[in-house]
Amino acid sequence: MQGMCLHWEAAAPRADHSQCAGQVESIRRYHLGQGYTDIAYSFLVCQHGQVFVGRGWDRQSGATCNSYWNSRYWSVCWMGGPGYIPSAAALTGLRSVVDQARARGGTHVIGHRNACSTQCPGDYLLGWIANGLPAASATTPAPTPQTPTKKAIGMLLRDKTNGRIYLISAGYSEWVKSQFRVDVLRFIGVPYADVSQTDIENVRVAYNAPTDAFVA
Ligand SMILES: [Zn+2]
Ligand SMILES: [Zn+2]
Repeated sequence: MQGMCLHWEAAAPRADHSQCAGQVESIRRYHLGQGYTDIAYSFLVCQHGQVFVGRGWDRQSGATCNSYWNSRYWSVCWMGGPGYIPSAAALTGLRSVVDQARARGGTHVIGHRNACSTQCPGDYLLGWIANGLPAASATTPAPTPQTPTKKAIGMLLRDKTNGRIYLISAGYSEWVKSQFRVDVLRFIGVPYADVSQTDIENVRVAYNAPTDAFVA
């Protein structure tokens, strides 16, 4: 395959993403009604950035002009049209499909209008191709927060003259072990620059100390 051909749906993007999967199915039904064997596009990308599989990689696209083009180019359809421009998320989705095509050896990117007479995929996407298809890379899911395995430790000191409790050391068992005595001696009653408020709070919770326990 030579590459990927960009199309548009020539319709307004769906405002609500919950409508997009249904819209893909309605395009599929429309194309089936037109005598296609399936939805004509290899892939579709909605304005919210989701990539939908149409015919996929293994079956010839039916979207681009004729069999000359369809036998050489996969197709991807941006689910938008005249009067709209693709969102950043849509461009990222389109770009990810192009990148996958390139990884499969189909490095060339064209717009439908480059192959035959049509407005598709619109001036914006043709310009985007000419500019090298800039897009933010697909966002990777945020890593699942790790449950800290470190144990918050510290040392509290009660001042008998006023009853206040002072934090004289705070840290975590993993790294405090070897330095604990030195730190305690050094930091009694002195702001502990290396300890964040979160560290202090962790120690406070670990020692079940009152909220106003620490002077840090
Ligand atoms: Zn087209
Ligand atoms: Zn959507």
